[in-house]
Formats: sequence, structure tokens, C-alpha cells
Amino acid sequence: MGKLFKNYLNGSPIFCCSSCKTHLSLHEQLISKAFQGRHGTAYLFGECVNISVGPSEDRNLTTGMHIVADIYCIDCCELLGWKYEFAKEESQKYKVGKFILEKAKIKKEN
Ligand SMILES: [Zn+2]
Repeated sequence: MGKLFKNYLNGSPIFCCSSCKTHLSLHEQLISKAFQGRHGTAYLFGECVNISVGPSEDRNLTTGMHIVADIYCIDCCELLGWKYEFAKEESQKYKVGKFILEKAKIKKEN
């Protein structure tokens, strides 16, 4: 394994990976706390860094048909949530290009 090149975010509070503390997003990127992940509450973010994106797949969510891709921490490879790549319903299109991070997988640091 080569050396990982990570982005370090400026600003606070910062949301980090709960297992390895890699920076993931900033509080100012937080759009909503009212999402449902696989394991409970999840947050919607505008921008995320230090993630790897898995293959796209169709997923039938409570809000309709979406194409999503799972996202992983680039350091510890923990599954963190997913990215929205396509939404069928007009009312859900605002989520496309944005990221879901599971509350249980992230940690807020000031
Ligand atoms: Zn991690």
C-alpha cells in the first residue's frame, strides 16, 4: 500500500470518520439531519472528501427509485453511507450529487 493522500479540512466543526478520524465534511456542508440510513439516523451533506465511491446501483428507497453508490472511508475502508447519482422523482432531484453519512459512522470534532 502506498501512502494515502488525504485532504485536511479547514473550519469547524468538522465531521470525521468515527473509526480513524479522517476528515469527511464540514458542518457548513450539512444539509439535513432527517435522513434514514441502514443503521438509523443519517445526515445529508453537500460535499465530502476522503471517500472512495463504489459501483452504482439501483436502490428503491422510501422516497422512490434512486441510483446510488456506496461510499467508503479512504483510510480504514469503513462503509460510511452513499452518494446519490440519480433520482427518478422530481421532488428528490435536489439530492443528486450529494452524500449520505450514517450518524453512527461519523464523529463531530470542534
Ligand atoms: Zn476511516
